[in-house]
Amino acid sequence: MRLCQTLFDLNHPNMKIVTILGARPQFIKAAVVSRALSQHNDIQEVIIHTGQHFDRNMSQLFFEEMGLREPDYNLGIHGLPHAALTGRMMERIEEVLMAEKPDRVLVYGDTDSTLAGALTAKKLHIPVAHVEAGLRSFNEAMPEEVNRVLTDRLSDLLFCPTELAVRQLEAEGRKTAGVQIVMSGDVMKDAARIFSPLMRAPATPLPDRYVLCTLHRAENVDNPQILKQMLYALELTCQTIPTVCPLHPHTRKSLEAIGYPIDHTPIRFIEPVGYLEMLYLLNHSTLVMTDSGGLQKEAYYMRKYCITLRNETEWTELAGCGYNHIVGTEPMNILQTVQNLLDVPPVFPFELYGDGHAAEVIAETLGGKR
Ligand code: UDP
Repeated sequence: MRLCQTLFDLNHPNMKIVTILGARPQFIKAAVVSRALSQHNDIQEVIIHTGQHFDRNMSQLFFEEMGLREPDYNLGIHGLPHAALTGRMMERIEEVLMAEKPDRVLVYGDTDSTLAGALTAKKLHIPVAHVEAGLRSFNEAMPEEVNRVLTDRLSDLLFCPTELAVRQLEAEGRKTAGVQIVMSGDVMKDAARIFSPLMRAPATPLPDRYVLCTLHRAENVDNPQILKQMLYALELTCQTIPTVCPLHPHTRKSLEAIGYPIDHTPIRFIEPVGYLEMLYLLNHSTLVMTDSGGLQKEAYYMRKYCITLRNETEWTELAGCGYNHIVGTEPMNILQTVQNLLDVPPVFPFELYGDGHAAEVIAETLGGKR
């Protein structure tokens, strides 16, 4: 009887989870969580890719390199303004959720795919779990901030990367509303830990010392004035140290729109790379300069100082420890910070963002083992 029961449990997962993802950082986060979920016989995962990122080197490559299995559904929705993108995603996600009838929907981070997934599930009375909950930049002009605030408000289970994020959600009344808040740690720390041994050099030759730079936030690249200011800052930086810049497709479009000579500039623009090459680029860099959320932490995981090309960050601990310098967009300020940091020895005494096993905490909580 007991044996029968065990076999029944093994063959019939009692928790069906639909994961909704669509953008590059979500493939990285989901790769580690999905791997942890697969260790639980009682969990069945169904993956919906909204199609938000669709170029091979922004999407498929991550599934292949990181062993994330092919999505069960690819909705192919991309290249639209925010409302149209979110609305069309919701229509298609609703169809899938009504057919799949999951016990939970799992969403990641702060993109339009995140919000579309959370809002659709909530309207269908399906509990929502949000990974990377409780982060705040307090800049509501950022589409990402709007997405993360609303997704947290809609979620029934909140996985936080930091204690500060837990406290933020408590301050917003989520705990008293009966929502489960779990301090899981940062899943991107898991990704860096698991995949660092597999890092590999990109095909392009690299200088001995370089600043690794990424730029794609709407506030920096959608406004031609600010974009030109950022390019000037990077060109100035190149007079001190080479700057290698994997070019986000959205940024490429903005550069083309202002007629910037991408292939004839001191800035070393390269195509976006996969995660394993990105880890190599990070590991061999002298400094990191970025407006990305994820890269600020990855710089720290690789023990590199980071210069953040924004006026605020949601990863405030890094700034508090002096690992991350929030410099905004003023070129001389950026250049000065680069020059100041170049010769500072890397000293990183504080351990932040958990123990690199966040995905296991998430999987165990979802499987009802915690
Ligand atoms: N990344 C990558 N290849 C690149 C640029 C970035 O693999 O050419 C990775 C980076 O290491 C990080 C993630 O993509 O893990 C960050 O994504 P992005 O900057 O697009 O989003 P954000 O973190 O700002 O939401």
